[in-house]
Parts: sequence; structure tokens; C-alpha cells
Amino acid sequence: MSKIRVLPEVLANKIAAGEIVERPASVVKELLENSIDAGSRAVQVYVESGGKKLIRVLDDGEGMIQDDAILAFEHHSTSKLRTADDLSAIATLGFRGEALPSIASVSHLTLKTRQCDAGAAAGTEVDIQGGTMRSVKPIAWDRGTEVTIRNLFFNVPARRKFLRSHETELGHITRLVTHYALAYPELRCYLESDGRKLIDVVPVKTVRERVYQLFGEDFLAGLVEISGRAESTEVHGFTSVPREQRTNPYSLFYYVNRRMIRDRVIMSAVRQAYQNCIPASAYPVSLVFLTIPHEQVDVNAHPAKTEIRFRQQSLVHDLVRDSIVEALTRARSVAGYEFRPAYPAVGPRFDIDNAPGDSPLNLTVPPVAARDPFQSAFDYPFRELAQTPALPTVEHESMQLRGDMLWGADSDAVAPFRSGGVRILGQIQESYIIAADTNGLLIIDQHVAHERVLYEKLAGGMRRGGVETQGLLVPLSVELAPHQAALLNTLAPELVRNGLEVERFGGNAVLIRSVPLAAKECDWRQLLTEILDGLEREERTLDVDRIRDRMAVSMACRAAIKVHTPLSLEKMQWLLDELSKTKIPTNCPHGRPIILRFSLYEIERNFGRI
Ligand code: ADP
Ligand code: MG
Repeated sequence: MSKIRVLPEVLANKIAAGEIVERPASVVKELLENSIDAGSRAVQVYVESGGKKLIRVLDDGEGMIQDDAILAFEHHSTSKLRTADDLSAIATLGFRGEALPSIASVSHLTLKTRQCDAGAAAGTEVDIQGGTMRSVKPIAWDRGTEVTIRNLFFNVPARRKFLRSHETELGHITRLVTHYALAYPELRCYLESDGRKLIDVVPVKTVRERVYQLFGEDFLAGLVEISGRAESTEVHGFTSVPREQRTNPYSLFYYVNRRMIRDRVIMSAVRQAYQNCIPASAYPVSLVFLTIPHEQVDVNAHPAKTEIRFRQQSLVHDLVRDSIVEALTRARSVAGYEFRPAYPAVGPRFDIDNAPGDSPLNLTVPPVAARDPFQSAFDYPFRELAQTPALPTVEHESMQLRGDMLWGADSDAVAPFRSGGVRILGQIQESYIIAADTNGLLIIDQHVAHERVLYEKLAGGMRRGGVETQGLLVPLSVELAPHQAALLNTLAPELVRNGLEVERFGGNAVLIRSVPLAAKECDWRQLLTEILDGLEREERTLDVDRIRDRMAVSMACRAAIKVHTPLSLEKMQWLLDELSKTKIPTNCPHGRPIILRFSLYEIERNFGRI
């Protein structure tokens, strides 16, 4: 007897479900995508107990006739693909025809739908339990589709056990709805959990307005717009200025053709862009929207469709990185002397419960609306939700992606940076420069300011291959540990190219013969060790850029004016002038802030004048 059997469909669906339906948020994702593909103008999501007990998604899209409503639950049944050729240029969010049968196989599912454009007289209700169809009946139904999922994973105890707390699952769902709300500003989105309204946004024209609806004005103020193009690939979006930092990656939103994705290529591009302006442990806020011809991406890389393959991976990577760098360089105009830290740059996140209320000289407490417990899963305050009237019924019109609809025409509403007009008042602790301009008081950390200046000088020189060097009168011998000596072997040519001439000198000793001029005063014994150890710790492929960057960061830090160093007025002026010429004058290469501002407004408010 043959041993191989074709699995019954119910079992096959249950297996497929394992990959597609990981948790309640995956169900919400598939249902939302179906609603968007159906051309909906408004989508409402209701959940109970973090989606474990109930998930209901209701839309006003094109709906289905009875035959389709039954067919939709067959394995591999879809209206979105017809031929194999279609697979190479997928323009819809769904295409695998697996979501509904998979979800239905691990839950109690009820579907109500009506395709009024097809003139269907009545709606259809389909009831399925654990993949078995229980009933199909005509019902009175206005338009669109409603899918209700009860008791997710009731028949997969292993999976159910792995679900996290209600709050955690709800956090995932909320982020998911937020994600799609951002990509589809023309869509009305509503999310309610256990009777509480969490998201309710009406259609708007631009992503900028949608960001405002979801996160509020303060959030938007910390973002600058990115935009760029390489061949037929376009990138648009928003990214945070260096002072806006997060302790988790939840504020990173990546999309390809308005499909939310998780992607290492884009992640690495964003990381690289922020490499020397925020701490390595911090995350920026980034909304990256890529528009790529459909045939240039393969979205069929994973059953959950959140992974994607790019034909031109490095083009996409460099485009994203360069566009962000360009935006940040432009954004120097925002921060500069206008800097007001919203959160501590490093260390634990600002905690609203322990915030020093209205204490004087309180520069760090951002105005945050009272928080809901569920928001602990987020790193940003949600706007308070206003009571809004019931959803309007809107005529169905298919959605089209238009550039101006997504990005709007506004330029960054930011104050220009002026290095002139700053008056130096003095130095405190021989460490911090105190200055004033018409907007208030500035405190500048002299060490990190100089570090930024030197870093950009050194990194720029290395890139151009023109680091000025100085020979040492007496070569410096340095004894290295064996692992450092081994690493130096591979690195030596690159170090030499960047102004650090080292040669082997028997055993694990090396001789330093010349050093970059900008860092000639450093303790080179220590500095060499630091560069080598830093590179080793990073445990990644050492490309030329990394080596140079590491050298520039270490040298800048070592060579910069120390704290507790008295400075003349001229020297302070020189430092501020040089700082104003850098690309990112607000943060040192390790990501610490350089300038603090005590604005006139804060001063007047604290003196009770306003
Ligand atoms: P896919 O989205 O990959 O096609 P699904 O299993 O998610 O597969 O859905 C199967 C089909 O059911 C879809 O192709 C679509 O025709 C139909 N469908 C699903 N959800 C909706 C909806 N909300 N409105 C209209 N049609 C829908
Ligand atoms: Mg689908």
C-alpha cells in the first residue's frame, strides 16, 4: 500500500494557517487587506480581549455574491490572479487566496456580504466552524462585507497557549491598524477594543494630515520630509530629526507600493542614515514609502506577505539611506539653536507617571495627554479621540494612488537655522558655553560640539581620500594583544590610506609613523586599541565605510576639547561658527545632544509673565 496521502482540505488549511495566522493581529491584517482590495472607503475593526475572543472587520467595499462568498473559503481561491503572468506584477495586497480558508480553519467565522453593484437582491451569510461550513443563508444586508472571528485557535491549543496578554495582542492590533491607516489616508479607519474607541480617523488628502490625526502636532513637528528617486524607484515619507528618539522600533513604518513590510534592507538603510547622529541603542521615527514598478519586486516571498524581495536591492538601500541623510542635513535648519529635547537622549524612556509636574526650569517634559494603559505598548502619545458621528455611507469609488494625495504639497514647516545673531555670554564649569539669541538661552556642550566638528572634517577627508597627515618625530611603538594584532593585519592598508601609518614591528608590536593632522594631539596608543576593539565588537562585515567611520568617531572623540577646559571668547566663537557649518549640528557622532535651548517662552512662562 502506498504510504503517501493527499491531506484532507481541512487539515491542509490548518497547516497553511500556521504560517499565515500567527496571532490576532495577523487576522486583522488579512481582513483589512481584503477590505482595501475591495475598494472600501471606510473600514471598522472591533476586537474583544485583544482579539482572542472576537475580531470583527466591517467594510463598505464591493462585497461578494453568494457563489463567491462560498468559493472564497476554498484553498487557493482568489479573484486577484488569473494567470501565472499576473504573479510577476501584483498590484493588490492579497493574491494567494489562502487567508480566508486559513482563518476559517482555526476559528468560528461568520461572513456577511452583499455585492450591490452586481444587483444581488439580498446579502449572504456564511457560517464556518473550524473549517467546516455550517450554513449558508440569504440575509438582509446593505452593502459591503463583515467578517467576524470568534475564539481564534479554539482547535489549536498549542498556538492559543503562545498568545500573549490581552494588552500585548491589542498593542499588535493597534499598531497594525495604525500602519494601514498611515498608508491609506483616503480611508476612514476605526478601531474599537472592548467598547473603547482607539482609532477613529476620517479621510484626508495627505499622509501628513493622517500623521497629524493619529499622532498630533508635536509628533509631526519632530519629522522632516524625505523624498528621492533612483531610476524608476521613488521614496517618500517622513523621518525624525535626531532629537526625537525611541527606545523601540515601533515607530518605523516601511511600505512598498502601500503594502506594509518588514525588511532588513530598508532597516539597514535607516540605521546607516542615523549612524552618527543618534545613539546606537536608539531608534528614529521613520515612515518610508517606496513606489517601485510591480515587476521589480517579488511580494510572494512569505505566506504572510510581509517580506519582499527587491530586484535591485542595493539601489533601494542606497536610495533610502541617501534620502534620509539628505533630509537630516536639510533639517539642521530645524534643530540647530532651536533645540529643545523632548526626551532624554539615552537611558530609560521618559515616564509620564513620574514626571516632575510643573517644576521650574523643566526643559524635558513634553506635553502629553493623559495616557491609557494600553498605550504603554507605544512610544508616542496618541491624540485624544474626539467623539465623532457614525460613519457616513459613501458611494464606492475605487482608490487610486496619487502622488499629491500621499505627500501633500507642504514643505517642512520649520524655522531656518541662523548661526549669526548668537551672542556668547560665557562658560560655566569651564565645560558649557552659554549664549543667547533672540529666541532665548543656549547651552552648548563644548566637548561634543567640537567632536561633531572634528568628526565631519575627518570623515569628509577620508571619503575624499585627502586626510592631512603629520609624521611623528619619534615613531610610537604599541604592543597589541594577539587578537588586535590579527585584526590589524587585515586593516592596516585601510588605516594607512586614511592617514594612520602603522607597520608591524616584530611579535605583536607595531610602529605608528604618522597620524592624521586633526588628531595629532591624541594618545595614539590608546586610540589604536580603541579603534581595533570597536571594530571587533561590531561583529559585522567590515567594509571600508565602517572602518573609516570608526576611525573618525574615535579620533574626533579623543581629539576634541575636553570638558573643564577654559576657552577664550574667540575660541568659543570659532567653535560655534564651525559647528554651524556641520551637517548635523545638534547631535554628536554618538548621538548625544550638543545644544540645549531654554526658550524665551519657557523663561517668560516660568517667571509667570505669560
Ligand atoms: P486573496 O486576498 O489572496 O485573494 P483571501 O482568502 O483573503 O485571498 O480572499 C479570497 C477572495 O475573497 C478574494 O480574492 C476576494 O475576491 C474575496 N474577498 C475577501 N474579502 C473580501 C471583502 N472584504 N470584500 C470583497 N471581497 C472579498
Ligand atoms: Mg486576502
